[in-house]
Amino acid sequence: MYKADLGQQEPEYSELFASSLKQNGIVVKRKPLKTLQVNMGLLCNQSCHHCHLESGPNRTEIMEKNTVDRILDLLDASPEIQAVDITGGAPEMNPEFRYFVSSLKDLKLEITNRCNLSILQQPGQEGTAFFFKDNQVRLVCSLPCYTAENVNKQRGSNVFEKSVKSLKELNELGYGADGSGLTLDLAYNPLGANLPPDQLLLENDYKIELSKLGIRFNRLLTITNMPIHRFATQLRKQDDLTAYQDLLVTSFNQTNLQNLMCRDLLSVSWDGGIYDCDFNLSLQISVPWKEKSIWEIRAFKNHGEKIAFGDHCFGCTAGAGSSCGGSLERN
Ligand code: SF4
Ligand code: SF4
Repeated sequence: MYKADLGQQEPEYSELFASSLKQNGIVVKRKPLKTLQVNMGLLCNQSCHHCHLESGPNRTEIMEKNTVDRILDLLDASPEIQAVDITGGAPEMNPEFRYFVSSLKDLKLEITNRCNLSILQQPGQEGTAFFFKDNQVRLVCSLPCYTAENVNKQRGSNVFEKSVKSLKELNELGYGADGSGLTLDLAYNPLGANLPPDQLLLENDYKIELSKLGIRFNRLLTITNMPIHRFATQLRKQDDLTAYQDLLVTSFNQTNLQNLMCRDLLSVSWDGGIYDCDFNLSLQISVPWKEKSIWEIRAFKNHGEKIAFGDHCFGCTAGAGSSCGGSLERN
């Protein structure tokens, strides 16, 4: 039976996915750490239909300064970590966001920020795009389609128009231009109960369509929607949940196991909990070792080889694979 029921908190998570690996004699272990993903909180200016964190304007979970400082101290003691990937919510809404980014720059770490684009048009965010440029922050910006109708359906009214405005402002600063060193990647996720199309083909379509609006970007990353929380609720209402879960299971592609993002990444939540990835964070499935929070460790490192797999992991292994870095086939 497909567990992790998808939308509910499930303490017993490791069933079908783990037994599939076992039956096929596959052992997936952690590799040396490269990336720390930091979730700065669930506060967001949007409330997207597919959000696996159920973020929105009314969420109060947010990373506080003492947690930020603890992460910075641990990073200073963690030479293995090369890159920090900041996410939320809308991380820019956290009052400590700029302090965190500037401090990461001082530590000479590669910084990626996951930006929903519309946040840059919110009052109080004037200057955030300049701040990104000044700190050489790589941006991964959500844009699930190049049409206003589809984007606004998934992400809320006028989100497409605000996103286009933000993309143009970022382009004016040099983001997405060859040789600028300012990377602007876009993130696509499907609107319905299907897997993403081929990443390179879709990137080509995006380049053609967005160039008509005068927008340039570097890469398109295709990301599979996880049937958990808000997206699971939506699928359940449409009577599509079981069919989508089955699609993920039957599309299992063993080659993706090589590149799963959880093999060289750790994720830290706003309250300092440690997880194998942001999806496990959203399901409150902690790392499968004793030290489960930043207050119990002296540096970010693997405290074990295992990963806490659950049935939602079929979302990462289906088809061309999926991760925060896009399709796994292209990694
Ligand atoms: S998907 Fe991103 S932009 Fe949308 S509600 Fe969730 S965190 Fe906010
Ligand atoms: S959801 Fe994906 S990244 Fe997270 S533990 Fe499962 S396979 Fe790894």
